Amino acid sequence: MAELLIPSAQQLIDGEWAAARDAGELRVTDPATGQTIQTVACAGRADVDDAVRAARRAFPGWAATSASERGRLLRRWSELIGEHVEDLARFEARDVGKPLSGGRMNIFITQGIIEYFAGAADKLTGVTLPTRTPDYLGYTLQEPYGVCAVILPWNVPAVLTAANVAPALAAGNTVVLKPSEVAPLAPFALAELARRAGFPPGVLNVLAGVGADAGAALTSHPGVNHISFVGSTTTGRAIMRAAADNLVPVKLELGGKSPNVLFADADLDVAIPAIVGSITENAGQNCYAGSRLLVEASIRDEVVERVAESMRAVRVGPWDADLDMGPLVNEAQYHRVLGFLEGAPAEGARLVTGGGPAQRADGGWFVQPSLFDGVDPRSRLSREEVFGPVLAVQEFSGARQAVEMMNDTDFGLLACIWTSDVSRALRLAQEVRSGQVSVNQFADAGVIGFPFNMQKDSGFSRGGGYAAMREYTQEKAVAVRLLDRSSVE
Ligand code: NAD
Repeated sequence: MAELLIPSAQQLIDGEWAAARDAGELRVTDPATGQTIQTVACAGRADVDDAVRAARRAFPGWAATSASERGRLLRRWSELIGEHVEDLARFEARDVGKPLSGGRMNIFITQGIIEYFAGAADKLTGVTLPTRTPDYLGYTLQEPYGVCAVILPWNVPAVLTAANVAPALAAGNTVVLKPSEVAPLAPFALAELARRAGFPPGVLNVLAGVGADAGAALTSHPGVNHISFVGSTTTGRAIMRAAADNLVPVKLELGGKSPNVLFADADLDVAIPAIVGSITENAGQNCYAGSRLLVEASIRDEVVERVAESMRAVRVGPWDADLDMGPLVNEAQYHRVLGFLEGAPAEGARLVTGGGPAQRADGGWFVQPSLFDGVDPRSRLSREEVFGPVLAVQEFSGARQAVEMMNDTDFGLLACIWTSDVSRALRLAQEVRSGQVSVNQFADAGVIGFPFNMQKDSGFSRGGGYAAMREYTQEKAVAVRLLDRSSVE
């Protein structure tokens, strides 16, 4: 099979690859070496306008396409992804710096998500409403919004493309996708496969561009009917403000500071590798990363020692060495994470392992997996999203204090509870203020269609699973009076 390539310095609008109108380009680099992988077009306001217009033109035809046909095209898209796993995995890994096997795993997840929404396309229904007498009929219709703007971060580009674009298309919307300017290659490659799958021109348009320019143009464009944003809490606030002017609904999936809560009765042989994986996978650059470890006082010393040992064993290297952890995505992210590492001791935290750059002969933005113990709950390390492989340990005594500490954060994305006491786990799941909870595992492995919910500063979203079909539709209620009783008499 021919290698899947993306045309250099181009973007996909109205089914055609073309340069940006002002011919601007973005250089996409390999974080392990700083070398350019490829250029893509750098979209400006005129390109955003072209993309939104194309999506508007395509909308009536796409909305009128039968739901089964929309599902068929999504399924064809997922099959093509299955035929290009290795090419896509390279884009996903190299762009972000993650190990190739991590990129491959993300492409399988991407394919699974699109397949899921292929099946969901013709399952979307409204409801029939109860009426006071048989003289009335009431029902609801689920209708697409129109043009959905999807704005994504750089950390898991393929998966987030699938999770946001597939339900929007399945529900009959057209899409303008703006991946991050830092890592746009996998979304572009996925869009090329969507084109080959046979989606009509204008149904899925993809352009990269910097946030303050193309991103802002998209969120304030009067032709956009729904905005789906995944990224930092700070940008999320700016996007909500922009959306207010056009009164456009916004779905926000933002940052996190997720706790792993470890009780003394937990199976440590299962928990410790998962906890270390939760903060080193993708070099800790995941919204749900398990960046806080709350450990019961009686096992704290043992746990800190075992976590440190496991962190020291994490092999760090470039994407193609396919080790356990890659570099951070770029220089800005590198200095940001080093800032946390340097500042933590001054805030009273004790460095157990790591704490600085991971030196490599070939350069790159590598840092060591780092563990701090005795972290002050009011410190920056405890409260702010680091987005790097940095784990903050705090101890608790008893379940009541564990709940208080879990909830002592502005974020509300994921909480993981490790215990062999099922009742305690389920009670904690009731009390924690986060959109997702996992018990005796990190995150949602093994559950199909798990809703990707958020609370507090982590945003609000009904992403993931069937609820996303409703997120990308608006409900219309219809009331009918059946006038002619004589017609059945
Ligand atoms: P970011 O907020 O800097 O950028 C995200 C996207 O927004 C990019 O495409 C960027 O170009 C665009 N953007 C920036 N300013 C904009 C503006 N004013 N108007 C419109 N668009 C604008 O985030 P990032 O650094 O790319 O990603 C890291 C963040 O993403 C972390 O906070 C992480 O937790 C979050 N994230 C959240 C989830 C989730 O599902 N909750 C998933 C992945 C990442």
